[in-house]
Amino acid sequence: MTVQSAIVVGAGVAGLTAALSLAESGISVAVLEQSAQMSEVGAGLQISANGARVLDRLGVLSLFSSRWLQPESVTLASGATLSDLATVPLGRIGTERWGAPYGVLHRTTLQQALLQKVEDHPRISLKLGTRIERPSRQALYEEVGMRADLLVGADGVWSKMRALVPGAGQAKFSGFAAWRFVIPEKDAPAFIQRNRVTAFTGPDAHIVCYPLKEVGAINLVAISAGEDPGHAWSISPTEEQRRAFVGRALAGWNSRLCDLLLTAPTPTWWPLFGVSEGHWTDNRDVVLIGDAAHAMLPFAAQGAVMAIEDAYDLAAMVKSMPVGAALVRYEAMRRARVAKVRARGDFNRFAYHARGPIRLARDAVFALSPATRLAAKLDWIYGYKAGEQPA
Ligand SMILES: Cc1cc2nc3c(=O)[nH]c(=O)nc-3n(C[C@H](O)[C@H](O)[C@H](O)COP(=O)(O)OP(=O)(O)OC[C@H]3O[C@@H](n4cnc5c(N)ncnc54)[C@H](O)[C@@H]3O)c2cc1C
Repeated sequence: MTVQSAIVVGAGVAGLTAALSLAESGISVAVLEQSAQMSEVGAGLQISANGARVLDRLGVLSLFSSRWLQPESVTLASGATLSDLATVPLGRIGTERWGAPYGVLHRTTLQQALLQKVEDHPRISLKLGTRIERPSRQALYEEVGMRADLLVGADGVWSKMRALVPGAGQAKFSGFAAWRFVIPEKDAPAFIQRNRVTAFTGPDAHIVCYPLKEVGAINLVAISAGEDPGHAWSISPTEEQRRAFVGRALAGWNSRLCDLLLTAPTPTWWPLFGVSEGHWTDNRDVVLIGDAAHAMLPFAAQGAVMAIEDAYDLAAMVKSMPVGAALVRYEAMRRARVAKVRARGDFNRFAYHARGPIRLARDAVFALSPATRLAAKLDWIYGYKAGEQPA
């Protein structure tokens, strides 16, 4: 029998998109979220065309499309000289190429739009302030007051729902940390361009920055090797820690970038965790999606977008076949896709953080690569049509 009812644990991007995707397929969905209220979390997100396409189909994109920024390009630049190295055109060219827009926005903007759709949906109930500590089928049924044909773990990198999936992976420190700054746009220096995503690259580190148009700020994230402080989401560093980070990670970088990171207001930093290899489903009625299944480093800016694809592909699968068979098919299909995207992230890390002769070779290749060729290499990521994969 195909799925009639589902319980989703976690109301992040993965959980809310899954709830909407399943409900749009006629399934009744209960969502359980530990936070008592959906508060402002994190900062910026890049949503590429493969994610925007799904958000459009779910009626979510139109809730913020007049407020987010569709950048003209993603441009790689030298962290030492600030000069451009390579450009992937986005904007109108990208939309025509991939059939959906590429945009940047504050996480809260996306979260609020998803939440609004979820709250308005007659087939979805959302229960906030409900943390699932020791998941079992019975405990989840009692929590929502109904049995369900499908249980979805969308509870992030520290997932408790993994306990229901034999052989699931575990959160694993990546060796990298992210430092985040949100700078009022009026205070940001002119070399931070306002119409594009810029990734400044240097030996063993890179800095991604782009405008958050709807909040009048610049989002700036620096990623380099870092320590594991244990289970943590974001930490406010001391000034001494900030100076140590800039001195260590950005040695030899352009002084204007270093000064910006030394003076930008309210820095926070995260240790970056991935999830080790393991199963995503029990092949019966439990499935992990988003970061709970496959948290990845943000080198390809695809973690949230993969969660969105997961949600939509999952709904398409469970709509068309019995749940056990759907989950087997789902895991095989999504595993191949996510592995390829993760490999692209690994390649970006290698290219962004290159040093010495490898960096010189990289720059020579970029100099010879026309923008259209760089865009074409991303067709398989951004042109993906979730929900339309052969069953
Ligand atoms: C620095 C950085 C930059 C990034 N930039 C991008 C980008 O530009 N584009 C992109 O696509 N991705 C990006 N990502 C990745 C992206 O943030 C994540 O992949 C995405 O947010 C994962 O969403 P999720 O819903 O799976 O998990 P989460 O966002 O972690 O949501 C999990 C939800 O489950 C709830 N929960 C957890 N445990 C329980 C429990 N036991 N019971 C009940 N509820 C629970 C949580 O409160 C939360 O609401 C970035 C990541 C980082 C670190």
